[in-house]
Order: sequence, then C-alpha cells, then structure tokens
Amino acid sequence: MSNTGFIPYGRQSISDDDIAAVVQALKSDFLTQGPRVTEFEDAIADKVGARYAVAANSATSALHLACLALGVTAGDRVWTSPNTFIASANCARYCGADVDFVDVDPQTYNLCPRQLANKLKQAKSQNTLPKVVIPVHFAGQSCDMQAIHQLSKEYGFAIIEDASHAIGAGYQGQPVGNGRFSDICVFSFHPVKIITSGEGGMAVTNHDALASHMRTHAQQGTTKSPEELSQNPGDWYYEQHTLGFNYRMTELQAALGLSQLSRLDEFIEQRHAQFMRYQALLKDFPITLPFQAEDSYSALHLFPILLPKSSKDARKSVFDILRQAGIGTQVHYIPVHTQPYYQALGFAKGDYPVAEDYYARTLSLPLFSELSEAQQNRVALLLKHALITSRVMSA
Ligand SMILES: *Cc1c(COP(=O)(O)O)cnc(C)c1O
Repeated sequence: MSNTGFIPYGRQSISDDDIAAVVQALKSDFLTQGPRVTEFEDAIADKVGARYAVAANSATSALHLACLALGVTAGDRVWTSPNTFIASANCARYCGADVDFVDVDPQTYNLCPRQLANKLKQAKSQNTLPKVVIPVHFAGQSCDMQAIHQLSKEYGFAIIEDASHAIGAGYQGQPVGNGRFSDICVFSFHPVKIITSGEGGMAVTNHDALASHMRTHAQQGTTKSPEELSQNPGDWYYEQHTLGFNYRMTELQAALGLSQLSRLDEFIEQRHAQFMRYQALLKDFPITLPFQAEDSYSALHLFPILLPKSSKDARKSVFDILRQAGIGTQVHYIPVHTQPYYQALGFAKGDYPVAEDYYARTLSLPLFSELSEAQQNRVALLLKHALITSRVMSA
C-alpha cells in the first residue's frame, strides 16, 4: 500500500515472488510467444475447469475474439447488461453487430432473467432474436446462469459470460468458467481486477473449434498447426487463413499472471473477510449493502453500496466528501446505453430504469486484498461523516 494516505477503490497486490517471476521472464529467451503464455493458459483452464484457454492482451480483445468465434457479424444482434463496463457492448460493435440491453435485477444488479425472457418473447414475434447474449457477473457475483442457459436452449442464442470481475468465483458449487451454462467465458487481468497481468485477458471454452478460431484470430489470422496447413514445406512456414489481429499476451504478462494465480484463493478469502468487516461496520447505516445470493460464491471485485431512494440527490455530495478525505470511491457503472456513443445509436435515458436508478444511488467503497482494518475503519468513519453532512442520516 502506498503511504500517501489515499485509499483507492481497488488496487493490485504485487509480491516479491511476482516481481521475481517477471524478472525471470525478462532474462529468458522469450519476451512474447513463449512457454509462459501456454503455461498460464493451461493453469487458468485447470483452475476454472475448462478444456481450453486462449490468452489475449486484454479482456476487451478476448470478448472481441469470442464474438468473432461465435460468428457475430453485421446485421446480428448481441444483448448485454447496461450495468457494465463499455467493453461488454463494444465487442459486438467491433463485429458490426447491433447491440441491445436487458435491464438488471434489482437485488443483484446482474442481467435479469425475467426481463430477458420477456424481451426474447417479444423479439421472437418480431423476428429480432439475438445471436449472442453476454451476461456480466457484476462485482464478482455470477448471474443466474441456469435460467439464462435455459432460455438459450429455448430461443437458440449463444452465451459469452463476461467474468471480468469473477475469476475464482463459484456458482452452484462449481467454478465460474467451467462452461456448464455458456459457450465462452472471459476473464480480465487489469490491475483493479482480482488478479493482474498488467493488462491481459483470457477466454475459456470447452469447444475445440471455438478455441482454435480465437487462437487464430489473436495472431493475425495465421496458423502453424500441421493439420490446418494446405502444404508444409518446412518449419518456417505458416499460413494466413483469415483476417485477424495482434491480440497476443506477452511472456512478461503471463509470468505475472501465473504468479498472481497462485495467490487467487488467498486474495478472495481476504476480500470475503473485508466484506464481513464492512457488514459489521456499516450495519446501522441507512444504506443497502451488496446482496449475496445463496448459490453464489462471489469473487467480490467491488463493494457497491446503495443510498436510499429518498437520498438520490445526495450521491454527488457523499462522493465528493469521501474523495476530498482521501477515500477513492468510484461509481460502477454509468449505464452503457446512456453513453453519447450509444445514444447516437438510438438509446435514450429512461430505457433501462433499474440500471439507471441503481447508477444514481451507488458508490463503490474501497475493496482490495491489501486493504487494512485501520483503513476500513477510516472508510466507515468518513462515510458516516459524509452521510450526515449530506443529510442521508442524522447525527
Ligand atoms: C474490466 C472489464 C472489462 C475489460 O477488461 P480489460 O482487460 O481492461 O479489457 C470488460 N468487462 C468488464 C465487466 C470489466 O469490468
């Protein structure tokens, strides 16, 4: 933890072992395309119980690769949650598809399966069914994947889980990413997420064809696999079969990611201990704490609190007071459809009222593995002060 006194909402934890692992990669023969990337892929696949893993230079790239592998193209429809980072929607736009949103559940703030069912029913009658639905495991808690999967069978769409917040999370006693209820699952290793590789992401799947499609498209559309080549004149030879991208992960990123992966369970246990401390510290505050579903083991990427409906206008004041006091609170998320880019595509404020009401009242408190008890006490004390000053609670 830096000694500036500022407490960010999220922060990486880098150990001496993490540093040594990166230094070792730097001194090795490969800075990119070496053994560590494959080792990291295998380790993630093993950890989450998936057959294949494809590393990428970000989760955004991995989401794009996932959409491409599922054949998303111009004229297709892709649906996601409005309560997410823009990347969950942008990945479909990269493929030329039309994006639409499904409002969130008022308890979990995850994509709501009941709203999804209603929207699908209507879309079927209008012949506008989606090709892919991208549920986002908000704050690290899995969506109701069983219900969403059931609907995918009924209406024939594919599923990409945006599990950027949820590496190490569980759902119905099984790891998020094992592919039981989806085609592809994507993780992010950005520094604010659960584990980091600097920048980086990973797509996991149980389908051989999807994995090799993603792998090919992450390296300019090329392959060296003997069974895929039209001729094989020698070891220098590769073929470009399609137009791909340079979405590769480096050895340095993989070295850091691998080292961090060995600390994943510990990180999540620390987050759960902090979650319980916040529950105790904030139990008498007039705010809603994050709901934890019984069939879910959240990775607890975020700790979003909710101000009461009557105090909606106080959010800016609470935010400003906390920021000025050195508490790096943040707001997750500005509903994607209200971004000017999406409004220019025809969306408007008011389209997804549950996500918009949530956005108006939410604040994420600091939550990261190295957050100390003293820092949590300080967050609680300053939050109380901010709530009183903003007239959300009385002194
Ligand atoms: C962070 C994040 C992404 C993008 O991850 P990058 O690795 O930064 O590209 C996508 N979706 C969600 C929900 C995220 O939080």
